[in-house]
Amino acid sequence: MEDWQRELQSSITKPEDLARELGVDPDAIRDVMKEYRVRITPHVLKQIKEKGDAVWKQVVPEAVEGDDLLAAADPLNEDADSPVPHLVHRYPDRVLLMVTNQCPIYCRFCTRKRLVGKPGFISKGDLDRAVDYIQRHPEIRDVILSGGDPLLLTDDHLDRVLKALRAIPHLEIIRIGSRVPGSLPSRITEKLCAMVRKYHPIYMNLHFNHPEEITPEVKRACERLADAGIPLGSQTVLLKGVNDDPEVMKRLMQKLLACRVKPYYIYQADLTRGTNHFRTTVEDGLAILKAIQGHTSGMAVPHYVIDAPGGGGKVPLLPADYLVELNAREAILKNYEGRVFQYPQVEPDKVSMTPQHANGPFKILNNGGDE
Ligand SMILES: *Cc1c(COP(=O)(O)O)cnc(C)c1O
Repeated sequence: MEDWQRELQSSITKPEDLARELGVDPDAIRDVMKEYRVRITPHVLKQIKEKGDAVWKQVVPEAVEGDDLLAAADPLNEDADSPVPHLVHRYPDRVLLMVTNQCPIYCRFCTRKRLVGKPGFISKGDLDRAVDYIQRHPEIRDVILSGGDPLLLTDDHLDRVLKALRAIPHLEIIRIGSRVPGSLPSRITEKLCAMVRKYHPIYMNLHFNHPEEITPEVKRACERLADAGIPLGSQTVLLKGVNDDPEVMKRLMQKLLACRVKPYYIYQADLTRGTNHFRTTVEDGLAILKAIQGHTSGMAVPHYVIDAPGGGGKVPLLPADYLVELNAREAILKNYEGRVFQYPQVEPDKVSMTPQHANGPFKILNNGGDE
């Protein structure tokens, strides 16, 4: 057994563990824990500094999870978009391949709350069927390994999955979505990195929600992956009481960049049964984006998206402020400081810009000061 597997085995999983380690009343959460699994790795347990802090809220179960019966258990209708078991084919050129339902930690706000925690990893037969489907669909050029967390597969098992996918000639890129580097960094061994890099181009999108999650061990895990030539992105869920604060979110994005992780997505929380207490307003998300855009490195600015049901996919949202007006003559623009500019549109029949150019020069209209 490898060190990381031993660490995973000593995770918190039972009401009695929560009582002993965190002083939680075991009877208050027993029913919820029958429905939704708990796992907190020793690494994440160490990051909890006090009751109800940002790390605690993400991993410690609450009785309120059981009160929320209105939202759907499968809000994105992923089951309906599944042509063969373990595969979700919703977009034209890319698919999700769920290789396990196991995770290093069970996020209380998980969209796949109904599924995660069930034992087991993808079987040889199911992998063959998924690969066969991708073979028969030459339009698929991108496979995203998901779950559960693909990095909980053993090196050998993950090697077999990547090898089978790489045998498909039309497949261009493989992505892995994982919370392992942030919650079980000991899993990111040199051996794993050496195996993964055989199958480039491989991308990874890592799940992080709060700057406190980025410990020295986590930073080293990210650097190891980056050194293996894996471009790293991040995915963050906007969560009430965890990161619904522009300063916290800006700090997280900056810390990710310092670990060579490029912020990719901030997700508006889905309407998943048992997670309603984490939802924020859309205005909160837009305010966060506005506080980041222009105020710090452009590299730190992710896309803010809402995942639409019925195969709608991710819909990107931008604060409305930047494009004040757009017509055939001009675009009125507002920058991050509130300064307003008039950009003259090109006229189809004019090739050169002259002072007589009908739509005029690019002008400052207003030096703002409203921010
Ligand atoms: C998020 C998602 C993808 C990948 O989306 P990108 O915008 O390409 O990162 C693909 N399929 C499904 C079902 C998804 O939910």
